[in-house]
Amino acid sequence: MKRFIFPGSFDPITIGHQEIIERALPLCDELIIAVGKNSDKKNMFTLEDRIKFIKETNKNNSKVFVESYEGLTVDFCKKVNANAILRGLRNPADFEFEKSVAQMNKKLTGIETVFLLSSSTHSFISSSIVREIINYDGDYTLLVPKAVRRRQA
Ligand code: ADP
Repeated sequence: MKRFIFPGSFDPITIGHQEIIERALPLCDELIIAVGKNSDKKNMFTLEDRIKFIKETNKNNSKVFVESYEGLTVDFCKKVNANAILRGLRNPADFEFEKSVAQMNKKLTGIETVFLLSSSTHSFISSSIVREIINYDGDYTLLVPKAVRRRQA
């Protein structure tokens, strides 16, 4: 049984995240989307909404599970018996950052990190760009799965 975890803030989930999720499914038996609880106050969407959007988007993907976690990702991996951490890479900046985190995680606990490169059509998309568009009342709908809806004021 190969169980991957895909950790992140998902504030909110984008079509870039969803592409990585769907491309990872043939590589594992179970994929846990691990939504970080940390610093909830800085998030635009509540933890409940972030989880709801991911669950709704993946309701037909029987291998996908969604959980929240707090603390170190490697500790959550141990708790759920994960074999690998999944991360998406959009550009060299992502790579530089992710490289040291993955090397550190490997050194500390032996856990592997699996990287998937985003497709060129999605590499400009980030949750922070979506939040900025929302803040300025722009149309963000092309960048996110249908389930994502603007927070009620
Ligand atoms: P974090 O705060 O941990 O970076 P994010 O929710 O921003 O959380 O991202 C979670 C993961 O999804 C990261 O590995 C990130 O690189 C990846 N990711 C984010 N946007 C995209 C995208 N457009 N294409 C591919 N991967 C992405």
